[in-house]
Amino acid sequence: MKKHNFYAGPSIMSQFTIEETAKAVKDFADMGLSILEISHRSKQFQAVIDEAVELFKELLEIPEGYSVLFLGGGASLQFAMVPMNMLRKKAAYLDTGVWASKAIKEAKLFGEVDVVASSKDRNYTYIPKDYVVPGDADYFHYTSNNTIYGTEIRKDPEVSVPLIADMSSDVFTRPIDISKYDLIYGGAQKNLAPAGVTFVIVKDDAIGKADRVIPTMLNYETHVKKGSMFNTPPVLPIFSALQTLKYYKQLGGVRAIEKLDLDKAEVLYNAIDASRIFVATVPDHADRSIMNVCFVMKPEYKDLEKEFIDFATEKGMVGIKGHRDVGGFRASLYNALPMESVKALVDVMKEFERKY
Ligand SMILES: *Cc1c(COP(=O)(O)O)cnc(C)c1O
Repeated sequence: MKKHNFYAGPSIMSQFTIEETAKAVKDFADMGLSILEISHRSKQFQAVIDEAVELFKELLEIPEGYSVLFLGGGASLQFAMVPMNMLRKKAAYLDTGVWASKAIKEAKLFGEVDVVASSKDRNYTYIPKDYVVPGDADYFHYTSNNTIYGTEIRKDPEVSVPLIADMSSDVFTRPIDISKYDLIYGGAQKNLAPAGVTFVIVKDDAIGKADRVIPTMLNYETHVKKGSMFNTPPVLPIFSALQTLKYYKQLGGVRAIEKLDLDKAEVLYNAIDASRIFVATVPDHADRSIMNVCFVMKPEYKDLEKEFIDFATEKGMVGIKGHRDVGGFRASLYNALPMESVKALVDVMKEFERKY
């Protein structure tokens, strides 16, 4: 039976990425060797990382003066690396969920943190709107897509200080005005590559200004200078990332992908909004994530949740159980997920609803 993969992360990858990666595991670049067993200093791998950086810049229209890095440690290490390198006196943060609060916790280790607003009061089911970012903050950090709660900020915030964003789960889903940012980071395992690589887009002028000792490996300057090759980078995930970037280019780039993503999200949200038994957890349409669609059973059907999971699983739906902090269901509609899978889920929801 065909499986429809709605996992939140690690998550679905394009067939192109999987097949090209599988080929390279057997024989990489006609070397007669697997990509798993070659030097990261070989000219064949250097070509891979160079092309990945170039395509990254092309697809996101990254202007001159920025570097693209491929590092280890996940987005979670960036929660600490960002303030360690960029926080001089004070930084502003927006609290929109667990990932944002983890970033805030690390930032507090390095200086004053102004949490300008939080949506914790309603379990992070909305995006705070009326907040003021102090003009003397070194940067304003926000999480563009809140993977757990299904909320998303799809417009670069208008503030008077440089932006820094965690875009782990919605990079390559919309054009970004990179010039407003000092730094953008994300774990790759949602919209780019297998787990193990973290991307960082950093403005070269914005680093090297913090007045503290920074360990070599945690200093962005090290990695900018060495082109992500100061030490052994995650070779295989970087190779896979390149395949995904090629696939994105083939799809027509970020604007074309955004259109596909908006269409997929609309089909699912419309089905939920029209349903008698399901309800979306994010009421305001403007705040709804097009990547992670969170929904629950209406109170009068609450005890059917487990039954729906079983029913959907039997029909090939994978990974639709909601995060434990939210409950219910979460369907992640990352770039590689085809519309066909969204329609299959909607059909399963309708079929289940007819039973009750
Ligand atoms: C998954 C996720 C993280 C955590 O990423 P790791 O690579 O596991 O550290 C951080 N932020 C967001 C928005 C995420 O979706």
